[in-house]
Amino acid sequence: MTVRTRIAPSPTGDPHVGTAYIALFNLAFARQHGGKFILRIEDTDQSRSTSESEQTILDSLRWLGLDWDEGPDVGGEYGPYRQSERRDIYAKYAQQLLDQGNAFRCYLTADELDVIRNSRREQGLPAAMHQSALTLSDQEVAKRQAAGAPFVVRMQIPTEGSCEFEDMLRGKIEIEWSMVDAQILLKSDGMPTYHLANVVDDHLMKITHVLRGEEWINSAPKHQLLYKYFNWNMPTLCHMPLLRNPDKSKLSKRKNPTSILYYKRMGYLPEGLLNYLGRMGWSMPDEREKFSRAEMFENFDIQRVSLGGPIFDQTKLSWLNGLWLRENLNTAEFAREYQKWALNPQYLMQIIPLIQQRVETFSDVAPLASFFLSGMLDLNEEDFKHKSLELAEIRKILQFTVWSLDTQTAWDKDSLYTLLKQLADTMQLKIRDLLSPLFIAIAGTSQSVSIMDSMSILGPDMSRARLRHALNILGSPSKKEAKRWDKEYKALQP
Ligand code: GLU
Repeated sequence: MTVRTRIAPSPTGDPHVGTAYIALFNLAFARQHGGKFILRIEDTDQSRSTSESEQTILDSLRWLGLDWDEGPDVGGEYGPYRQSERRDIYAKYAQQLLDQGNAFRCYLTADELDVIRNSRREQGLPAAMHQSALTLSDQEVAKRQAAGAPFVVRMQIPTEGSCEFEDMLRGKIEIEWSMVDAQILLKSDGMPTYHLANVVDDHLMKITHVLRGEEWINSAPKHQLLYKYFNWNMPTLCHMPLLRNPDKSKLSKRKNPTSILYYKRMGYLPEGLLNYLGRMGWSMPDEREKFSRAEMFENFDIQRVSLGGPIFDQTKLSWLNGLWLRENLNTAEFAREYQKWALNPQYLMQIIPLIQQRVETFSDVAPLASFFLSGMLDLNEEDFKHKSLELAEIRKILQFTVWSLDTQTAWDKDSLYTLLKQLADTMQLKIRDLLSPLFIAIAGTSQSVSIMDSMSILGPDMSRARLRHALNILGSPSKKEAKRWDKEYKALQP
């Protein structure tokens, strides 16, 4: 048997360090067994998937040296490797399940489902619903069918007992069927959900081992059942521990930068970041902290993964990256790498148009551009002094801005302007006043080039990190204050 593993990112946002971490372990496992590593794009959620996101995910994983043997851009025997191009395949398998009686059409509308859910909650019944809770009378089904009403295809779930499956790291896991939903397999637009597409593709792409994040454990019973319905062998499952913030909560962009683009912009070497990801829950047999990708693969053993949630700590990452920068590059290499990082034409061509009109000599450039080549800025309370805004108000502006940017996905300058103008209006502030502390937080000075352009070039995670950093300098809200602000902020939302 040839070992085949895969990473299956959904292209719905910035490339996440968690994706790189899971990819690394899949690649290490495949290489250790002389197997293949596949990249598959799971873009069945058409409303959230974008081709830009797909491209940055591919670029970022490749930047880290996580090369795949088969994928949408390199091809392979089992393509297409993008799920949106495999629609007909899923429809065929959904039909097979319907024919076998392992799935059913569900005509319930969203409102009807809400009513059922609420009444189950009131009766203290489990949230997971099986077919019995989701069926309309035969007559009603016939009526809706005749009228061409939209429907979804759901899977049948056993009414009793429990599901048992093996996990490479966790051993036997048992989950009662009463906890498992009659999962939607095909949506009303004919697109499959993750569960159907994932199982069908893992089978057709001959995946032998599925190493994925532990958030998918609860999906395993559904997947196992689907394999059984299709009479296919299930790949071996391995649920990796999730990366955590230093406070042990699940790594999230609200507390920590999670985008690989941030770590690139921050000036980490791919070797340093990859080495650190290799340390997440795993260690070398001799416990050494610094090791290359090749050394990791040579010594890889999945059983050395420990399940205690690995903490993704930027301070530790910086320390490790420092070793790589100081020990692995000679002066010429350092200069070349720095030039590639800071002075590459692609980055310069974003910055120069903002700066050219403001200078008299080349020596004016570096001071104006330095914040584009920095990490967190060296600021203090004095820097934020404003003629009419009190410190408390400035802190509130920073906090409200962070909150509104947390949910913002479009990151071009016009979208950012619309968002911040709206925030200023609802806070009854002049846009100039709202932007004033943002200038200091993002660029270190109120005399900087356009703040919207700057944020859009620096990207979401770097912008948010600088705003949070500024808030820390001025004093993060106390628990009481945060509660009060949260209420105020929510009241401002349309
Ligand atoms: N598309 C899923 C994700 O974004 C893949 C999960 C899996 O590996 O099965 O995480």
